[in-house]
Amino acid sequence: MSDALARLKEMQAADLPVHGGRTLAYVYDSGLAEVDEVGRAAVAAYAGSNGLDPTAFPSLLRMENDVVGFTADLLDAPATAVGTVTSGGTESVLLAVQAARDGSPSVAAPSMVLPDTVHAAFHKAAHYFGVEARLVPVGPDLRADPAAMAAATDDSTVLVVASAPSYAHGVVDPVTEIAAAAAARGIRCHVDACIGGWVLPYAARLGRAVPPWTFAVEGVTSISVDLHKYGYAPKGTSVLLHRTPELRRPQFFASAAWPGYTMLNSTMQSTKSGGPLAGAWAVLRTLGDDGYLRLTRDVLEAVDRIVAGIAAIPALRVVVPPDSTLVALATDGSCDAFTVCDEMAARGWYVQPQMSYAGGPATVHLSVSAATLASVDDFLVALAEAVAAAVAAGPVAVDPGVAAYIASLDPATLTDADFDGLLAASGLVGGDGGDGAGDDLALPDRMAEVNAMLDLASPAMREALLVAFLDRLSRPVRAVG
Ligand SMILES: *Cc1c(COP(=O)(O)O)cnc(C)c1O
Repeated sequence: MSDALARLKEMQAADLPVHGGRTLAYVYDSGLAEVDEVGRAAVAAYAGSNGLDPTAFPSLLRMENDVVGFTADLLDAPATAVGTVTSGGTESVLLAVQAARDGSPSVAAPSMVLPDTVHAAFHKAAHYFGVEARLVPVGPDLRADPAAMAAATDDSTVLVVASAPSYAHGVVDPVTEIAAAAAARGIRCHVDACIGGWVLPYAARLGRAVPPWTFAVEGVTSISVDLHKYGYAPKGTSVLLHRTPELRRPQFFASAAWPGYTMLNSTMQSTKSGGPLAGAWAVLRTLGDDGYLRLTRDVLEAVDRIVAGIAAIPALRVVVPPDSTLVALATDGSCDAFTVCDEMAARGWYVQPQMSYAGGPATVHLSVSAATLASVDDFLVALAEAVAAAVAAGPVAVDPGVAAYIASLDPATLTDADFDGLLAASGLVGGDGGDGAGDDLALPDRMAEVNAMLDLASPAMREALLVAFLDRLSRPVRAVG
C-alpha cells in the first residue's frame, strides 16, 4: 500500500465506524458488503468525471434520469414530475427554498411557514436566501399543527413545509392538511423526506400504517429525499423532485455574462464529481425494490425491538412512538441524556445527544440502520448498562456560577478573546499552549459536562460558542512558520 493510503487508514481509525451498525447517527449501514463494494467502486470509477456538462458526460445524465425516475416511481409522482440529484439533503432543501423564492418574484419580502421541528437546513436557507422563517410550534404529539401553520401564512408566504418524518422525533407531519391549505392559497408545499423518504414507501408496502405524504397528496409541490441516508448509497447524493418542470425552472441557473463557456447549472455546484451519482446509481441498481423492501423490513424490526426493549428500562422512555426509523429517548430525573450518550460511547455505541428545545427535554437520538438488527440485543444490554451507570453518577450538574455567567453574556458583544476564555472554561478547548495549532483541540472523552453547559446556554449563545469552536478547530497545518 502506498504511504499515503496507509496513513489515511491510520487516521481513519480514530473516526466513528461507518460499518457494523453501532453508529446510530451520521451513517446508514445496509450491512451488505456487496452493496458497499459496488457503491465504492462506482464512486472511484467516476471520481474524475465532471457533472458540469451533461452533454460532455452523457452517462452521468443517463444515471441522473434513472435515479430521478426510480425516486419518482417510489414517491407516487405524476407523469409531469421532474427532479435533480444534489449533493445532499441540505442542498435539496436550499434549492427548494430558492426555487420557491424565485418562483414568486413579485413578493418583496418572502417568508416560509415551518413547523418548529423542521430540519435546521431550512434556517440555513432562510439565512442564505433572505427568506423569513416563520416557525410554528408543533402540537403535543410533536407533529406540525396545520391550523396554526395556515394562520401564519399570508401574502408574503412563498413556501410551506412539512417533514416526513422530522429528524429530532421521527414523526410524520399531517401533510394532507398542510398541503391542502397551501394549495388553496396557491403556495408551494415542500415535504422534507430527506431521511424517511426511502423508508416510508417500503414500510407501507410491508403493511405498516404510514400517513399520506408523497405526491399522492394533493398540493405537495416538491419533495426532498436523501440517497446517502436510507438509500444506503455512498455520501453525496440526495434527490429533489418537483411536481412539474415549471416549478423547477427557477432552480436552474445560466450565465452568459462572461467570456468563458455559458454557465448552465441545475444545482448549487458547477463542476461536480460524477462519483456520488454513480455510487448511488450502482447501489440502487444492486438493491432494487426487493433489496430495499428487505432492508426496510430489517430496520423496522430493529426499531420495534428497540422500542420494546426500552420499555424495560425504567429511567428511559421513548419520547413519541416512531413513525419510521428514528427514535428519540428521554430520561427521568434520575439521570441525564448526555451521560447516557457518553456511557454508550464507552461501550462502543454512538448515539447522538439532542439539546432541550421549546420546553422539551434533552434527548438521545437514534437513526437505526438495517445493519443494527443483527446486534439489537447487544444494543439493549449496552443501553441498560449505560442508563444504570448514568443513574449511579446522577444527573450531570453545571456549576451554578458558570451557568449564571453564561446566561449573563450577550454573544453579539463578545470578542475573540472572550470566546477563547469561554471555550477553555467550557472544556471544549483544552488550551492550546498558545501555538494555535488545531492538533491540541482533541475533544474530551466525556462530553456530558460540555453538553449540559451548552444546553443551559441560550440558543444564540450556543450557536456563537460552537462557531467560535469550529473556528479554532479549522486552522491550517503549515510546514512553514
Ligand atoms: C439529514 C436531513 C437533512 C439535511 O441533509 P444533509 O444530507 O445532512 O445535508 C434535511 N432534512 C432532514 C429531515 C434530514 O434528516
